[in-house]
Amino acid sequence: MMIVMKPTATEDEIAAAIEKIESVGARAHPIHGEEVTVIGAIGDREHIGRLDLASAPGVDRVMPILKPYKLASAELRAGERSVLDIAGCPVGGEHFTLIAGPCTVETRAQTLQTARVVADAGAAMFRGGAYKPRTSPYSFQGLGQEGLRMLAEAKEQTGLPIVTELMDLRDLDAVLEVADVIQIGARNMQNYTLLTEIGRSGRPALLKRGLAATLDELLMAAEYILKEGNENVMLCERGIRTFETAYRFTLDLMAIPVLKGLTHLPVIVDPSHAAGRRDLVLPLSLAAAAAGADGIIVEVHPDPDQAICDGPQALLAEEFAGFAAAVERATALAGKAFAPA
Ligand code: PEP
Ligand code: MN
Repeated sequence: MMIVMKPTATEDEIAAAIEKIESVGARAHPIHGEEVTVIGAIGDREHIGRLDLASAPGVDRVMPILKPYKLASAELRAGERSVLDIAGCPVGGEHFTLIAGPCTVETRAQTLQTARVVADAGAAMFRGGAYKPRTSPYSFQGLGQEGLRMLAEAKEQTGLPIVTELMDLRDLDAVLEVADVIQIGARNMQNYTLLTEIGRSGRPALLKRGLAATLDELLMAAEYILKEGNENVMLCERGIRTFETAYRFTLDLMAIPVLKGLTHLPVIVDPSHAAGRRDLVLPLSLAAAAAGADGIIVEVHPDPDQAICDGPQALLAEEFAGFAAAVERATALAGKAFAPA
């Protein structure tokens, strides 16, 4: 249920409504908007209904949230979009967030060199995997904690917030030491225990759409994180499986405007993993920016031919500044501009 407070509601009235909701074992999620406070009440509908919140002091009206995902739904914010603050970097609203870096951290030199290049080109965050989800168990699985240390050094040198993947809860504490944003890979989108713990950690999350997940399933997965009181969730469209074999995945650009109608959460696009090919990354990035994405996450490497993983899709470090400038121009088509680093 959604409890919409009156514009004149006092702090005490808001606190009293929250206390009432919690008295029946439900969770209260207050959202303080510019004009009114809305309280999302998540729990047993009958119990909440019996509270008669509609006639409580300061309450304007009580409305059901019709969607199965409650906290992620656009209804909860009455169409207002969430703007996240990730270590001082805004995501959402009129901002376009460029996230870039290697698929995986390989060496200190490769990591620091790439971080410098993307920072100089205007990227707002640095990505890099220390724990890699690989199709083959015989492929390189990531440098683990050694990789996390290299990411920490990249952050120290550039000031860019770090986006890195967590696959296994046993690595949560180590990842929390370094990650400003925890990436949940496509293959783990429905790993509900992982989602819950990331929710509890409070750390911002980049939730990638599963290879064959519907948008409703993506939003239900986001709900697992939000439900724990962690509001800093970015959704990421990274291509889905279709019958087409001419490229690796099909980038679902329609997901951008459709998700924006369904949810207040920022929508990021990953053209690198969708395409699997470098030549497609620029046109797909331009399209994502023009369609109103809140950012993109792309892979970059100083020497892609020697990359341990995903070399064929990596943008060349030496061409990255030109790439970023082209994307920045396209963001204007959707009324956005690069988020400051
Ligand atoms: C990645 O970002 O390196 C990655 C493995 O992405 P995905 O989970 O989308 O395949
Ligand atoms: Mn990759």
